[in-house]
Amino acid sequence: MSIRKVTVLGTGVLGSQIAFQTAFSGFEVTAYDINDDALKAANERFAKLVSIYRDEVDGAGDGKAEKAADSIVLTADLSEAVKDADLVIEAVPEVVKIKQETYQKLSELAPHRTIFATNSSTLLPSDLKDSTGRPDRFLALHFANDVWRYNTAEVMGTKDTDPEVFRAVAEFAEAIGMVPIELHKEKAGYVVNSLLVPLLNSAMALSAGGYADPEAVDKTWRIATGAPFGPFQMIDVIGLNTPYNILVNSDDDGKKLAAWLKENYIDKGKLGKSSGEGFYKYS
Ligand code: NAD
Repeated sequence: MSIRKVTVLGTGVLGSQIAFQTAFSGFEVTAYDINDDALKAANERFAKLVSIYRDEVDGAGDGKAEKAADSIVLTADLSEAVKDADLVIEAVPEVVKIKQETYQKLSELAPHRTIFATNSSTLLPSDLKDSTGRPDRFLALHFANDVWRYNTAEVMGTKDTDPEVFRAVAEFAEAIGMVPIELHKEKAGYVVNSLLVPLLNSAMALSAGGYADPEAVDKTWRIATGAPFGPFQMIDVIGLNTPYNILVNSDDDGKKLAAWLKENYIDKGKLGKSSGEGFYKYS
């Protein structure tokens, strides 16, 4: 099962990074998005990635990053995008209906051999497999934001995923410079968020409950475990809206934490590092 031609659906935050990293690693990449405006935004994202790779990634000088960006074929024609793909990586918005409709169209347009992988963070591949028309050739391949730096790729199939497809996708992940993390069965949150979400929630419960300030919580985590960052520093990097959106849709305790985040930070424009201030101030 050879993967050479890769199509990425959705060129937003993660899709643009996945497409760029894959092209940078020497694969033939097509990137699809819904209209010309989205494709224009994709080109701007690729231009930013060129300069990031030149600064941060070994071997990205001598025009290699520019070459990667130039090699990506951009299109708003789904049929054209997938007609010869070995692997389609789906990074469309985290909305079940959009994903299901995308897979229904894909199931008709892509060749039978094409493998489909979802980058969904919160949905299980089982939630989507019935729309794919090929549950044996479908699984999750979950990247982390800033793929060139935080290079895990969690590989998670359903009970219907063909083991050879699983293996081929794990090998592909390695070939584009990721560290494949293989899950033996489905788990909401994969490995990374199964660990991270409870940690971040516990940190917020300590501060929202008045037990300790964010700085004290972070200092404890850093000194006592040797970790480079505390949980509130991590939330500042992620952006406060992401935990807020998860908490506001969770149980009563979670809703209280969401209200605390909103009142003390989000409503004051403290959205995290990218806004200049979150739990900490950034110059
Ligand atoms: P985003 O909103 O930045 O990008 C989504 C892209 O999909 C946009 O370019 C949009 O134009 C396009 N789009 C909209 N409707 C579409 C359709 N019907 N078909 C094809 N494209 C369509 O979203 P994102 O943050 O890149 O997230 C995409 C996926 O990646 C989600 O499943 C998310 O859970 C997952 N993910 C995100 C992160 C993250 O940190 N942002 C990390 C890991 C995984």
